[in-house]
Amino acid sequence: MKSGWVDRDAEAIVAEGAKSGIDRDLALRIYTTRLFGRDPKLVLHGGGNTSLKEVMRDRLGADVEVLRVKATGADMAMIDLAGLPAVRLSPLRKLRALGEIGDDELVGIERASLIDPAAANPSVEIMLHAFLPHKFVDHTHATAVLGVIDQPDGEKKCAEVFGGRLAFVPYVMPGFGLAKKAIEVFERAKPSDGLILSKHGIVTWGESAREAYERMIEMVSRAEDFVARRRKAATAPARRGTAEVAQVAPIVRGACSEKDKTIEGAWRRLVLEFRATDAVLNFINAKDLARLSQAGVVTPDHTIRTKNWPLVLPPADPAKLADFARVAHDTASQFAARYHRYFEQHNARVGHIKHELDPLPRVVLVPGLGLFGLGRTKRDAEIAADIAEAWIEGVSDAEGIGRFESISEADMFDCEYWPLEQAKLGTRREPPLAGQIAAVTGAGGAIGAATAKAFAAAGAEVALLDVNFAAAREQAKAIGPSALPAVCDVTSAASVRAAFDAVASAFGGVDIVVSNAGAAWQGRIGEVDEDVMRKSFELNFYGHQRVAQAAVKIMLAQNTGGCLLFNVSKQAVNPGPNFGPYGIPKAAELALMRQYALDYGADGIRANAVNADRIRSGLLTADMIASRSKARGLSEKDYMSGNLLGREVTADDVAQAFLHQALALKTTADVTTVDGGNIAAAMR
Ligand SMILES: [Zn+2]
Repeated sequence: MKSGWVDRDAEAIVAEGAKSGIDRDLALRIYTTRLFGRDPKLVLHGGGNTSLKEVMRDRLGADVEVLRVKATGADMAMIDLAGLPAVRLSPLRKLRALGEIGDDELVGIERASLIDPAAANPSVEIMLHAFLPHKFVDHTHATAVLGVIDQPDGEKKCAEVFGGRLAFVPYVMPGFGLAKKAIEVFERAKPSDGLILSKHGIVTWGESAREAYERMIEMVSRAEDFVARRRKAATAPARRGTAEVAQVAPIVRGACSEKDKTIEGAWRRLVLEFRATDAVLNFINAKDLARLSQAGVVTPDHTIRTKNWPLVLPPADPAKLADFARVAHDTASQFAARYHRYFEQHNARVGHIKHELDPLPRVVLVPGLGLFGLGRTKRDAEIAADIAEAWIEGVSDAEGIGRFESISEADMFDCEYWPLEQAKLGTRREPPLAGQIAAVTGAGGAIGAATAKAFAAAGAEVALLDVNFAAAREQAKAIGPSALPAVCDVTSAASVRAAFDAVASAFGGVDIVVSNAGAAWQGRIGEVDEDVMRKSFELNFYGHQRVAQAAVKIMLAQNTGGCLLFNVSKQAVNPGPNFGPYGIPKAAELALMRQYALDYGADGIRANAVNADRIRSGLLTADMIASRSKARGLSEKDYMSGNLLGREVTADDVAQAFLHQALALKTTADVTTVDGGNIAAAMR
């Protein structure tokens, strides 16, 4: 591992900070914290922290000694001043005299000691930084170091690798107890460079930001070299005898969902992220996977993202997917039952004071194929997958030089259910479609884009499908990094299949499909060319059938219900003159919706439609609005609001109607009219 320190970058941050009164030490504290945050081999998703002790002037003009320490959950790669709250050091140091202290009381004292009372909460490892006397203190969970220390003889290996420059602190749960243990060890052993926290991580320090940082790099490099010299080259990884990700993911996702006990028809679902690097394949194809997979976390805070163990499934034989699905459901149920027993047992130990988290796995291993990270959002799934990859690397390193050994199950429970660790996940109220995946066709157009946006705002992960990929990509970009654009020509069965494979591979499946793509053709029905009729049927009827078929296939594999939503125009109900080529396939689409509601109701799959009229879109362009209003002798405004309410109907109104249908768990075979009022198009 090489130092990322660049003099020019460091001086640029110092110069920039000077403009807003940030002193040199603090500017360089920010700089090296970012260097740590940018290397996932050092720091991953909130695991790791840095600090600086300095004198600053408080609000009353007095000089006070403070600890600037990373805020809990802050992203080190992007850290700024707000991510390093300043805490008065003397009250923190006095706490050392206490035998122990409750979490709430400790957090209360920390908050009361903040220079800025509105600052973020300091890291859960604040006391470790406070008790150590050094000016700069850095702490990471570097993967290579974990490989060396997660061993039955970790202390001996540390002496060998770090040559006495780091003292060894036996495992104590992170927090106040660990801080006290660490300072005791420091004062007894007086190591020159830092500490090893057994089964947890490494601490280095220095008089300057650079010294502390480069000591960390040097120590991690020693661990890397030690492991590299001893680890045998991995056997060639191979994907073998396995079904495709797009086939396997919906089965895995369905198996790892649970019925919502409070709302009939509702499910608690997770989103998936797939990984299959060489390291992952080597690990999951190894013959001792059964032992290694259940051996526990490589560092305690991983448990809040991945739980203590992954769910291990059998290989997915493409010729026997039904068998695979059955075993996946059974194995996932056993996982949940085991998790429940684990909770009950340890909750009894701590006096029944904890509330059980959901029992669903956050990492799933499928031999021959790869690993899935699972989370309530795509981002959470990615984090689980990142941590699972680091876990695989740590365990593989440890096995390469000895035998991997984690902390005890009781220690894992204490971290998983430590309120201060849980606080890293935030106390967000979940939006109504959290954990659900929605695909929208025609998403490059006005109604499709508005619908994708509305579903994303309601918490769904969204896939934007359009024959025009650039348009889908532009709309996806506007929604955010998780939104998936995909090309989808609904007149081609192969294109629809490929698009739904892409959705299932990216998110794990699909729960809601808005079949919206369409285009209008005109002609007097007795004279119109058969070719025009066929073209329109191809898009405005068969397009919906292909999309619904592809979606239902995935929904059945998940076995957690689903929702098909169709954009039928008012033409399906109230035909317009010379609009047969468009209206007739749309009427067939309405019948199609009802047929899906009928045939798949027993599978929990609902089918509904929105009957919208006169929306500014690709079907009703500005030119068409101009010529039609002129032909009727109306202003454009009067033409667009020519309905019972006298209000123009927008794409957003249609999007809200689709959203309502997605949320109405007891409604199927329904048509919701969004047209401002048109009695001739009323459903009944
Ligand atoms: Zn730590």
